[in-house]
Amino acid sequence: MPQEHLFKVLVIGDLGVGKTSIIKRYVHQIFSQHYRATIGVDFALKVLHWDSDTVIRLQLWDIAGQERYGNMTRVYYREAVGALVVFDVTRASTFDAVLKWKDDLDSKVTLSHGKPVPAVLLANKSDQVCSQQPRLDTFCRENGFVGWFETSAKESTNIEAAARCLVEHILANE
Ligand code: GDP
Ligand code: MG
Repeated sequence: MPQEHLFKVLVIGDLGVGKTSIIKRYVHQIFSQHYRATIGVDFALKVLHWDSDTVIRLQLWDIAGQERYGNMTRVYYREAVGALVVFDVTRASTFDAVLKWKDDLDSKVTLSHGKPVPAVLLANKSDQVCSQQPRLDTFCRENGFVGWFETSAKESTNIEAAARCLVEHILANE
């Protein structure tokens, strides 16, 4: 019998960066210009047949409404084991907010042994810029992100790769 894991993963970042779009792309393989702002908290489930003896249920927690305050309640963070922190490459202010989101995450949830939950940084809407996103390796190392990806929910770029990276780190903490 395969081993089953249920992992709660948070998708956080400023309003309009593409959190809902990333989840819809990843879970339902769809994209729309017109998502209504999510009200409250929304869930989506992605089942991964990770390997022959591991099935992973990723419970993706979307937010809305509360983004404007730049933080979430502890209830939202409770028992999360990983996070995708998203910014919009076309809006610098959303990158500036990334560390605020990371601090909020780290102040409200830790793993049982006290380590921070793994977080992957997503530079989203990469389809909209011709110039390359500056590399974020140093930024990630210095600020405790386990990795970063240039993503596009619109063109379905790198979202699976980012999720895979996060899951690998989550599994390493099991
Ligand atoms: P949220 O507030 O973070 O959940 O952001 P949404 O998912 O609602 O996206 C905000 C807007 O950005 C919507 O009009 C989306 O269609 C658009 N959007 C999201 N991801 C992308 C992307 O990768 N590329 C482009 N060009 N637009 C995107
Ligand atoms: Mg949304």
